[in-house]
Amino acid sequence: MSDPVFIGARIYRGSSYGAHHPLSIPRVPTVTDLCRTLGWLPTDRYRTSPCAKPGALYGFHSKDYITALQRSEVTQNTDLAYGLGTLSNPVFPEMYRRPATAAGGGLLAAELVRTGGVAYNPGGGTHHGLPDRANGFCYINEPVLTIQRLLQMGLTRIAYVDIDAHHCDGVAVAFHGSRQVRMISVHEDKRWPFTGALEDNAGGAALNIPVPRGFNDTEFDLILNDLILPAVDAHAPDAIYLQCGADAVTEDPLSRLTLSNRCHIRAVWALRPLASRLIVSGGGGYNPWSVGRAWACVWATLAGQEIPDRLPHDAEQILRGLRWTRRAHPTEQMLTTLLDPARPGPISDHVRSVVDALQPRIRGLGQGQAQHDPTVG
Ligand SMILES: [Zn+2]
Repeated sequence: MSDPVFIGARIYRGSSYGAHHPLSIPRVPTVTDLCRTLGWLPTDRYRTSPCAKPGALYGFHSKDYITALQRSEVTQNTDLAYGLGTLSNPVFPEMYRRPATAAGGGLLAAELVRTGGVAYNPGGGTHHGLPDRANGFCYINEPVLTIQRLLQMGLTRIAYVDIDAHHCDGVAVAFHGSRQVRMISVHEDKRWPFTGALEDNAGGAALNIPVPRGFNDTEFDLILNDLILPAVDAHAPDAIYLQCGADAVTEDPLSRLTLSNRCHIRAVWALRPLASRLIVSGGGGYNPWSVGRAWACVWATLAGQEIPDRLPHDAEQILRGLRWTRRAHPTEQMLTTLLDPARPGPISDHVRSVVDALQPRIRGLGQGQAQHDPTVG
């Protein structure tokens, strides 16, 4: 099996959704620079993401919408019929090319794992994008397009696991009722986009795991071991797509979950042996220090690199060089390390009841697949 590949691009460096947007911060550049400085990105492990051409996006998005998105990039005018030019989805200079590069990275990742392997596309994971409009900072739905490409290759069983703090509403639209794609999402309850309820199984294709504020590492381990891993295993996937959004950590300004980045590492580690192909993307993550640190840890885990207890000087300077207008300064610990301290805690009745409610459904998922799926040879 080939070595894991990191997919990046220059367009993430310097482009921004605007000074006041949560995505005004550098994310892919930070993780790329950290990994380079730490010696974790030899040239044969790094691939530059191509910018996807419009025709590659029509599998999920409407032609009219993609045309409107390209037009707004050129004219820099709003087009509210397509959700372009709102506070969440602003008009900005790279508003087509940047998300189309993230999508191109996902399509490249699919090709790279065609015969097996691991690909990491931290610019991807734009899970809110809808067929005919921008939604939740997402203009183009990279996870959907990447999974569609895997299916076009002839794979018939894909497990999509999403540990972003927000529900993957765009992905759920795409694969509602699918017997080939199993979507497993853990996300904060009662938070935008307010979809992904416990009872919502997306026509039998999804396991939705809404969790309460204050969700901690101990509770994440329970969800991982008792729900996520058994659900993936029951699907016997040809490929796993892990959306590894970094906004469920304590320091993130857009969620109230209180995980450490050790949870992201454990998810990567535990999912890796469950399929011969693994694609890992980024996603949310709105604190510049926590997102850069978490995603560097993810790459270290995929690439088999040891995470140092204390960062060497050059890597520390990358974190010290970050600026953030929205919040207070980071702790010294966030500037000198990559790995968070563990954030264990009690298992709440809420989380316990979610596990109890969903465990019987996992057993049903496996049986339903074996009995009813006509696409499996
Ligand atoms: Zn999110």
